[in-house]
Amino acid sequence: MSDSEWTKILGWPGYRVYRSEINEVAKTLRLWVRRKRGNRKLVCCGCGKRVHEIVETYEREVRDLPWSQYRATVVIELHRVRCPDCGIKREKVEQLPSKAPFSKRFEEAIGEACESAPVRRVARRLGLAASTVRAIDLRYLMRWAAGRRKPALRQMGVDEIHLGKKQKFLTVVSNLATGEPLWFGRERKKETLDGFFREQLSSFQRSAIQAACVDMWEPFRQSLEQWVPGCRIVYDKFHIMQHAGAAVDEVRRAEFFRKGGAAREVVKGKRWLLLSRWVHLNTDKKRQLNRLFALNRRVMKAYLLKESLDRLWSYRYEGAMLRYLQSWIDQLRWQRLKPMEKLAHMLLDHLEGILNYCRIKVPFGVVEAVNGNIKALLRRGRGYRDLNYLLLKAQRLAVTKTQFLVLQKAA
Ligand SMILES: [Zn+2]
Repeated sequence: MSDSEWTKILGWPGYRVYRSEINEVAKTLRLWVRRKRGNRKLVCCGCGKRVHEIVETYEREVRDLPWSQYRATVVIELHRVRCPDCGIKREKVEQLPSKAPFSKRFEEAIGEACESAPVRRVARRLGLAASTVRAIDLRYLMRWAAGRRKPALRQMGVDEIHLGKKQKFLTVVSNLATGEPLWFGRERKKETLDGFFREQLSSFQRSAIQAACVDMWEPFRQSLEQWVPGCRIVYDKFHIMQHAGAAVDEVRRAEFFRKGGAAREVVKGKRWLLLSRWVHLNTDKKRQLNRLFALNRRVMKAYLLKESLDRLWSYRYEGAMLRYLQSWIDQLRWQRLKPMEKLAHMLLDHLEGILNYCRIKVPFGVVEAVNGNIKALLRRGRGYRDLNYLLLKAQRLAVTKTQFLVLQKAA
């Protein structure tokens, strides 16, 4: 094959192949390239300005996309230049995005592969170390993040992820409009969220935030009130229902503890059944729950209370919502269901943030979806000691998902 044919297939804009070498045993292909005659524009890698003086010419070898069965590398002729502003620097070359020995399109192919496959598998397929693939993926994501415009933040979500006994909690701030995580902070103190407001947003950006969807966690509320006083706090329905589910479970455990023998068997292992919504259960599961309820009226009562609490968010007017909550609390009278009474107190203590849902609509479930994605990433790859990498990964996941949805809608 002639050099001009190699040049065409390689397809590096502005560069031509002047030498090639094929090793049929090792299955390797090496191509030597230099600038085409018309391509004389040199740019300083420090400041991005045009430079004219060449100090030195040297070569660098980078791995490029494979050609059929052949592993391809490109030896590229490069220049060191004298920049009036930066001194002696490397020239900037489109196909060489970093100091690592890989071409830009090779890194992009790896970054894309890492979107759908675990790092280890990508590494094995390409015969690279997992740490190398991770570093390439991180650079790919950083280039993507640097080149995009971030949507404005009007409604934010704040939630936490439990990482385990040692690392404890991670605070996650997200944009409810895009379903994208914006920031991670270690722990879940007031100071944690303070850090987000202080470091990530200007006072103008803070003033644009209209609502925050959060769990009933006091430190977050304090931070929000200090930094975004104009923002309405809306307590997330999902979290409130989680508290309700926990209360039902507490009732179940108390009853389970008191009973013995056959009754014990019926109550045992029904935790997740009690946490499920009635409408989501099949006939068999409903029958199982009914058997449990026949034995124990208290567990049934607690379950029904949890089920009916869900309707609270179907009201559009504060008055109606408040009336419904009052009637819900009235049902607790004489029931002696301590965990449910505790829940009622909690709801009353956070009444403003519950009623705020009537004043400003926020999409529930987004915070939970963001959390779910992050947890899925954490489960899949263990290499997220670098929080910035995890954040970029989760952002990219959110954005590609939205893009996919937009495409589906358009089609
Ligand atoms: Zn320069």
